[in-house]
Formats: sequence, C-alpha cells, structure tokens
Amino acid sequence: MRLPVDFYTLRLLGTVIIALVSLQLVYFWSQNRRATWLLWWAAPSAMVAGTFFAYRDATPKGTPIDMMVSNALVFATFWCIWQGTRTFERRQVSPWPLVAVIALWSGLVLLPGFADSVPLRVALASMVMAGFSALAAHELKRGHKEDLPSRRAATLVISVLAVLCGFRVLGAFFLPFPLGGLPQTSDAASLYVMVILIVAGSATVLMVSMSKERLEIVQRDRALRDPLTGLRNRRALEEDAHSLIRAGGNREPVCLMICDLDLFKVINDTYGHSAGDAVLVAFGAIAGSRLRKSDGLYRLGGEEFCILLPGCDGTAGAAIAERVRSHFAQSFRGPDLAPPYPSVSIGVAAGTAGKTDLETLMRRADRALYVAKSRGRDRVVLARGRRKASARPADGHREPDPPTPCALPAPAPATSAA
Ligand code: GH3
Ligand code: MG
Ligand code: MG
Repeated sequence: MRLPVDFYTLRLLGTVIIALVSLQLVYFWSQNRRATWLLWWAAPSAMVAGTFFAYRDATPKGTPIDMMVSNALVFATFWCIWQGTRTFERRQVSPWPLVAVIALWSGLVLLPGFADSVPLRVALASMVMAGFSALAAHELKRGHKEDLPSRRAATLVISVLAVLCGFRVLGAFFLPFPLGGLPQTSDAASLYVMVILIVAGSATVLMVSMSKERLEIVQRDRALRDPLTGLRNRRALEEDAHSLIRAGGNREPVCLMICDLDLFKVINDTYGHSAGDAVLVAFGAIAGSRLRKSDGLYRLGGEEFCILLPGCDGTAGAAIAERVRSHFAQSFRGPDLAPPYPSVSIGVAAGTAGKTDLETLMRRADRALYVAKSRGRDRVVLARGRRKASARPADGHREPDPPTPCALPAPAPATSAA
C-alpha cells in the first residue's frame, strides 16, 4: 500500500514549516533575551529544515568526509535539543558528549567494514540520537519541582522521540532508509518526514508553552513581592488570606498583627534613606526568624508590615509580637549607637477561622496599633475582647537568639529647607 502523499510535496512543506518553527523560536527569544534555551531549540529546527532541503533521493553513500560532516550535523541537532533542556533547567552546557561522539564516529567511518554497512551506520547513529533525546527528556523530568502545566507533555514528546530513535536501532536491519538501513523507498522517506514534522511541531509548541508559563510565574511572583525586603506584599496578603486564615483548621483561632515602625520619618531624616531601607530589611528578617513556615509575613507598604498566624490565639499571638518587638528594639542598641533607636509598635487581633475575615482582623489590629502609638510607641497592644499577652508563644515559634546590634551610619547632617 502506498502512502497518499507525494514525498517531494511533503519535503517542501516540511522544509517550510520547520524553517518557520525555527524562526518563531528566534522571534520568541528576541522578546525575552534571557530565554536562551529558545535559541538552542531553534538550532535543531534550522538544521532539520536544511536537511530536508538538501535531502537526496538515495540511500546515503559518499566519502568518509561526507559521512563525518552529515552525521556530525545530525548529532549536533540532537545534542542541541538536549542542551536546550539543560539551559532551560539552568544547567551548564555540556559540549564533551558531542565531541566524544563525533570523534568516535569519525574514527569508525575510516573502517571499511563500518563505512560500507548502511544498517550498521544507521543503528549507531540512531543510538546516539536516542541517547541525546533520552537525556533531554531526563533533564525535563528532573525539573518537575517547577510545576509548569506543559512540562509533562513536553517530557512525553521528547521521550517518544527517544523511543522512536531506539526503534530505528532495530529497524536499521529490516526497514528501508531513512526509517532503517535497507535501500530507500519513497514511502519510508515520506513517513520519516511526517514523523519528524509531528514530533518537532508538538515539541516546539510545548517548549514555547513552558517558557511562557515560566515567565508568567516569574512576573506573577514579582507582582506579589516587595522588591526591597523580598517579602510578599499587600496584594499577596489579600490572595493568601482566605486559605491562610483556615490553614490552622476551620473554627480554630487565627491571629493577625500589624507592625508599624516608630517615628520612621525621623530615622530616615537622621540616618538617611538608605539606612532606613536597611532597617526595613532588618525588620523583615527579624520578624521572619520568629515565625513558622506556615505563618505569613507581608510588607503592606512604607514601614508597615502584617503577620498572619493561623492556629494561634490572641494570647500566643501577642507573645510572639512581643518577642518580635523586643528583638527588633535590642538589635539597634549598643555602646556605639545613639538615639533615635528604631522600634516598632504592634497591634494584635485574634479571631476564628471561618468566622472572622481579613478585613475584620485588619480593622481590629489597626485600632490596637493606634492605641500602641498613643500610649508612647515601642509596645504591643492586643485588641480588646481577648486576654493580654502571655510570655509563651504557640508551638513552632522559635525562641529568640540574643540580638546582635545592627549598624546604623552616623546621623546625616540636617538638611535645611530650600
Ligand atoms: P509613627 O511612629 O507615627 O508611625 O511615625 P512615622 O514617622 O513612622 O510615620 P509617618 O507615616 O509619618 O512616616 C513614615 C515614613 O516612612 C515616611 C516615609 O518617608 C518612610 N518610608 C516609607 N517607605 C519607605 C521606604 O521604602 N524606605 C525608607 N527608607 N523610608 C520609607
Ligand atoms: Mg505608618
Ligand atoms: Mg511609622
């Protein structure tokens, strides 16, 4: 039975489509220059398009030099696919396997027994192609912790490519070229072109999807993170609140605190804005070191921070707040430091998961913060209706280490008004 496709038409279409695929990958790379893996994946498509274009209607013969060059290009094509996946997984490019394979191949084609046997050459070349494809699939599988929706499908397509190349090792001895190593037929060549078109097309779509998905994750994380402290921001708090409040269990207590650095304008005016920035970063680190992994720490904006403690009642929450406050205050006291010292006021509010929402907790914590400020700052106030702070924190919250004084620069000279 003959395939209802004319090989020459198919070859022409294949050349055009694969060349366009290659150009599309280069275009996507030009949009995001950090995504160098797109270039690694564009190269094999360009080489395949070139191979289709230069395809001869005959089983390969030629001089040892022909065999060296043409197969070096085939090996480089599959090696580029593998290096693309390595670059995508942020690993170093590894040139030695390609060098070793080309050196081995170049030695073998000088042996008449090997050079004269097409099946043997097809079998060995396919083994190399299968090996590089399997390594590419392995790289994608290794990176599964980065949860990209297209990753599984891409791994599957590259694995299928490895399996097809593996079959070609066996087919070398009973299938016509280029499926195997026996004399070529037009149908075998058509089928070969179709398989390459399907695999290359679907692999390209999936690779581009993975790149896009990664970019979206990075941009989304950037939108939800404060660049100065690296903490998540107010928008992230609003996104996390519903699940975070319930993280300790539905109907379980939940605690929220709002921390506002005291007289921060004065700190800025005295020590300079960059020292103020350093104090904000230090607060984020100190507060973070007192919390469990399941707690949420956010920079609301300016010198205001918010902490959400699922499963924590007001008493335990106020105790943790007190530890954050005292550790932060002591971090900036030392024999070499002079006032004004950075300090923080904290308003704490407690509620019940499933009953109290973020807005209510924020409102009550904000009122408690206002009380803390009006009572002289550098203190913790627990919103009314709950018991006062105890010294015992909830399970999992770490005892503070003795604070090490943080350095502040010499006070900046007062600036006069223009
Ligand atoms: P209070 O004790 O009442 O909270 O007084 P305050 O000075 O801390 O409050 P105020 O709202 O008057 O000033 C907040 C200051 O925080 C003013 C602003 O310049 C400073 N600030 C806000 N964001 C940043 C930042 O990213 N870096 C630095 N260095 N300062 C900031
Ligand atoms: Mg403020
Ligand atoms: Mg303030």
